[in-house]
Amino acid sequence: MTEPLVVRPYRLLCLFCSLGGELPEPLREPVAALRQAIQDCPDRPLALRCQAEDVYAYQHPGRDEDTPEGAEYNRKRDLDVLYCLDLPPGAILPARTLLYRVLAAVPTVKGICGYDAATAAWPGCERAASGCYEKGIQRGIEGLIPPRDAAECAREKQASVAEMEREKELRIRPHVIMCAVCNYGAADGAPEPLAADNIVEFIRIVRRNPRVPVKLVPGADWMICAPCPQRVPGLNACVNVAGSGGLSNEKRDLDLLQLLDLTYGATLPGRELLLRIFDRVPSTQPICRRDSPRLSVWWDGCGESNRGQGNPGYARGRALLLAELRPDQAAGLMRAPGNCHSSVPTDWRLQP
Ligand code: SF4
Ligand code: SF4
Repeated sequence: MTEPLVVRPYRLLCLFCSLGGELPEPLREPVAALRQAIQDCPDRPLALRCQAEDVYAYQHPGRDEDTPEGAEYNRKRDLDVLYCLDLPPGAILPARTLLYRVLAAVPTVKGICGYDAATAAWPGCERAASGCYEKGIQRGIEGLIPPRDAAECAREKQASVAEMEREKELRIRPHVIMCAVCNYGAADGAPEPLAADNIVEFIRIVRRNPRVPVKLVPGADWMICAPCPQRVPGLNACVNVAGSGGLSNEKRDLDLLQLLDLTYGATLPGRELLLRIFDRVPSTQPICRRDSPRLSVWWDGCGESNRGQGNPGYARGRALLLAELRPDQAAGLMRAPGNCHSSVPTDWRLQP
């Protein structure tokens, strides 16, 4: 993996400011170089180092990249940016995640780069009131990181579905099997294929051939995720949900593997795997729920929607598929009692 690129926090804002109009020197060239480095490798790690003292002095980068408005101004501007981003000095995150975080948390540079009451000691940046930054963030993440090519995604859809249809072996990351069940249930058992992934095809093929081998694999594996605009093929990564969706998904995968008492690489017939999941995971809550705040790298919409109850689509999909795969026991399902996040309630199991 690429070494972290050391970046002063204020330059994250300059990146968007540069989209609204050409930056003045001395910022023009270094910010253009940073922009190019991020375009070349959008998920490269950036280390946000600034002139914080006290117990954070260890990460002090020196004053070489100060702008001319004064030492204290430079120190305060970086701390203001980190405060808005809710990050400590020295934090290292993927560039894409940081840019999304700027979009979410810094709608304007007023009060950060420039002040209503500028003084001789605190003049602020001359561009702060120009509207360039505010214009730049209107372009969103695409202003700095181009989206995945739509024609390539469409080609990948065709190729990956063709591979699945061979029924030799299906590969899927563990928790996405539950997503497929959610989707199946939400459509009341009749989902239309999706452009962005192959979860509909996954359920269709397992229903058609319950003995098809299914291998549990890590990451945004090609077979199911190939056409997704949020997949980074070179990294086998998922950059859904502000760039960090893959992290929360990885925890979901591992939480599910633990409940199933399986590990990556396990290969089971499709029917057997689905029944194992349905027996041990009666609700999405233990796997999907997230109580993290919005800026957290652990936040996502599914996690938030699972706070009160599990996904009703999963409950419906599980019931429909149980009736089909194990009709003798489907009628024996008990009602769900709890909201346990970290363990499966034992009295939720199928009756023997
Ligand atoms: S609730 Fe969980 S299993 Fe269902 S779609 Fe969301 S992440 Fe996937
Ligand atoms: S890359 Fe991420 S968002 Fe896209 S289909 Fe795969 S898991 Fe879902």
